[in-house]
This record gives sequence, C-alpha cells and structure tokens, in this order.
Amino acid sequence: MTIQRLVVFGGTGDLTGRYLLPALAALREAGHIDDRFSLTGASREDWDGARYREWASAQLDRHGADIPTDARRAVVASTDYRRADVTDPAEVGAVVAGDDPVAVYLALPPSLFPATVTALHEAGLPPSSRIVLEKPFGEDLAGAQELNRLLADLLPERAVFRVDHFLAMTTVQNVLGSRLANRVLEPIWNSIHIAEVDIVWDETLALEGRAGYYDHVGALKDMVQNHLLQLLCLVAMEPPLTLGERDLRDRKVDVLRSVRYMTDDDVRRRTRRARYSAGRCNGHEVPAYIEEDGVDARRRTETFAEVELELDNWRWAGTRFRLRSGKALGRDRKEVAVRFRRVPHLPFGQDADVQPNVLRFGLEPESLSLDVTVTGSRTETLTQLSLTAGMDPADLPAYGRLLLDVLNGDPALSIRSDEAEEAWRVLEPVLSAWEQELVPLEEYSAGSEGPPPRPAAPGRRDDLLHRDAVLPADS
Ligand code: NDP
Repeated sequence: MTIQRLVVFGGTGDLTGRYLLPALAALREAGHIDDRFSLTGASREDWDGARYREWASAQLDRHGADIPTDARRAVVASTDYRRADVTDPAEVGAVVAGDDPVAVYLALPPSLFPATVTALHEAGLPPSSRIVLEKPFGEDLAGAQELNRLLADLLPERAVFRVDHFLAMTTVQNVLGSRLANRVLEPIWNSIHIAEVDIVWDETLALEGRAGYYDHVGALKDMVQNHLLQLLCLVAMEPPLTLGERDLRDRKVDVLRSVRYMTDDDVRRRTRRARYSAGRCNGHEVPAYIEEDGVDARRRTETFAEVELELDNWRWAGTRFRLRSGKALGRDRKEVAVRFRRVPHLPFGQDADVQPNVLRFGLEPESLSLDVTVTGSRTETLTQLSLTAGMDPADLPAYGRLLLDVLNGDPALSIRSDEAEEAWRVLEPVLSAWEQELVPLEEYSAGSEGPPPRPAAPGRRDDLLHRDAVLPADS
C-alpha cells in the first residue's frame, strides 16, 4: 500500500533541508508523488505553516536548484508545520493523529530515538503506518537492542525502515550488478583470487560546524559502523536468490555474523584512530579539530578511523577487508577497491613491472574502473592501464529512492533489526578497546594523507591455506 502522508520530526534540521526536501521534489518531478501527497515538518521551533514553507522553499533553492521549479513549488505547497517536542507524547500524538496511515521520519539527533519511539507508542499510530530511523541506529549494541525492543512494540518489523542512504546509491547497487550479472567476475570473487578489499570514505571536508552531532559520535560510529559495514555486506555476501527484502537481508546478516571477533590484541594491531591538527585543506586554513567550535577535547573523538576485518567463511578466509574513513584529509577518496592477487607466473623478464588488478567502484563521483597490465610499446615490457567508465546519472537521488521505498512499503534497502545489532557486535571490541585507550589516538595534519600506515598484521589463518603454497603472498 502506498502512503501519502509523511511526517518529519526534525523537519527544520540539516538533513531535511539538504536531502529530504530535494528528494521529495525529485519524486514529484519523476511523477512518483502528486497532489495527494502531504508533508508535515515538526520541531520545537515556534513556526507556523507559512514560515515553514518559506524555509522549505529557501532550502530547495539552495540544495535542489537543478530540479524544475514546478516540482519544487508543488512540494512546498504540500507542506505544513507543527510545533512539537518529540519527548512529549501528547504533542507527538497531535502531529501523527488522523485516519490515514502515516510514514514518520525521525530526522533527529540519534539520542532522541528511544524517547520518540516511546512517545509514538504512547500516542498511538494510525493502522498500517511506518517509521523511518536515520543512522546511527543506537549508540552501542545495548542501545540498538533496546531501540529494537521499543520498535517491536510499536510496529511490525516490515514497517520499520532503518535507512542508510549509501545502499540507495547507484554505484553501491552496482557492486551487486557487477558481481552478479557478469560471468567473468563471480567465479573469481573469493579469497583465492582477491587479496584485499579497501572500503574507503576519505574526505577533504572538515567538521563544517557539526560539532553538536559529530563530537559525540566520531568517525567509527558516524561512517564505519553503518555505511562502510553495509558496503562490506554487499561486496562479501553470497549471491542472494532474489533482491527481495528477505533474501538480500539474510545474506547481509550472514556476512556480519562471519566477521571474526577481535581480541584486544587484534584491535591494537588492526585498528587506527586519529584526529586532525591544524593545516590546509582545499586551499583553506583548517583549525585543529579540538579548536573547532563546540568540540570538547576531553571526549577524545576521532576524526579518522580504520579497521581491518577478516571473515570466517569458506569464500573469504584469507582476504583482508580494510574499512577506513577520515575528515580533513588531503584528497577525496571514496571508493571500494578490490585488489586481486598477482598472477602465479610471468613469462616476462625479471624486471617486468606488474601490478595487481584493482577493480574500483567509485562512490563519489560514481564510476567503475579496472587497473590492468598490458604489453607496452617494446616487446617484453609491461605497462599499466586504467579502464574507466563514468556511470549514467541516477534517475533519483539516493534519498529519493529511500523515500519512495518507504512510501511504497518495500524494506529491501533498509536494515533489519538483527542486522543492526550484528553491525554493533562487529565493532563492540573496537569501541571497548578504544575507550580503554588500548589504541593511541594519533594526530595528522589537516590536508595530509592521514596518520602514517602501520605494517600489515599477518592473517591468522594464512599458513593454513593451500593457495599460499601456489600463489605468491602479496600483502
Ligand atoms: P540537525 O541538528 O541539523 O537537526 C536536528 C533536528 O531535530 C532539528 O530540526 C531540531 O529542531 C530537531 N529537534 C531536536 N531536538 C528536538 C526535540 N526534542 N523535539 C523535536 N525536535 C527536535 O541534525 P541533522 O539534520 O544533521 O541530522 C538528523 C539525523 O540525520 C541524525 O540522525 C543524523 O545522523 C542523520 N543524518 C544526517 C545527515 C546530514 O548530512 N545532515 C546525513 C546522514 C544522516 P529544534 O532544535 O528546533 O527542535
């Protein structure tokens, strides 16, 4: 059933202005929503409908300028505003009340999710309603379990959308398309042929005034625990029977369950955390993270996190998966890079320079490329080429696709309750060891490559693997 009524708690926030309103305008332009659709924004601001429409219109001018004016105006016209504190069941109830089902979007600081779900439960939702929660889902495993319990009291699991907009990006979808629709890839998509996978979201952007959120969260919980683990799932999952919600989500959970538990010693050797000191990024002076407005240095929040994981399953034992994200770095590098093992024998001269093949899924900008080695202009010389394809622009922005799924009731791209908990289980040992200061908090200059890399830790199972007897170890 399609829902026509969307309520956004946190309707005056950055997410709403930057992503949700433009996504709705894109849905309107593509004909997915029409005059029957209505949006209610809610927050503690003492605004009325006219004031909210003015704000929404300005946000669309700023963040959705590429969307035709008619579609933007139609979305603004469908919009109303209610003042409500999400911790007050009576105020929450007044916003969601009505006969028609409602999709309730929590575009709120994550610390408010439990109180809001409790207030919605007390207030009651119209039958067949749905709820959408932004990331991060909970602040740790216990928090995610508690939130799941509250949600289970509120609505059936199929009506709960724990969204991660990375899953709706075309290039992320393309990880599955490339793997599963090409005869040449799936047979070599395993640890016999793949040495390492880097899942990287390095950005030149620094804090950009978001200390109120970021300083309580840090790079590990902001990026690695959700977006990057979701990418890991798509890269490493077994081929699902279909892309329906059950098959897809079952296979993703299998990946998370297979991540080897990290001991304190593993965390020391396989993770890094750091925060930036003053420097220059993109031609601008950037102050040290701890000097940014709203940052409390005592929290020791990391702006760079790297975690190396191993999967204990038949397909992946022996491949390293490195998940990494940092702010205020020297260059944007946002990609999944799949590095293949070297060929077992080269009939070229001893000096032949051969690099491993790397298949790269560019996340921003979206692209697909393959690094290959070919014969150079002189016999017996080799040279490296990168074959790169740009991707067609997506028909909908990622948030547009997510909202459409919510309105249509398809949870395939949202995260199931067990999946949300498994994702925390994977990182609990890291969070705990970091909290105990078992891993130093390094520093890197803004605009640099990040903290210097450490030598790779040996894989614990490498010695057991037959393939290492026949293939050169190359990590
Ligand atoms: P903001 O701080 O910009 O917005 C928070 C919103 O919540 C405001 O509208 C605020 O309005 C409202 N709010 C806060 N407290 C209450 C309350 N007690 N009752 C009612 N409303 C309240 O945060 P963002 O928009 O950046 O983030 C929202 C969520 O989206 C977070 O979970 C974040 O992780 C996620 N997200 C954000 C992204 C982004 O780029 N911004 C990207 C991906 C995810 P007021 O204070 O006036 O009540």
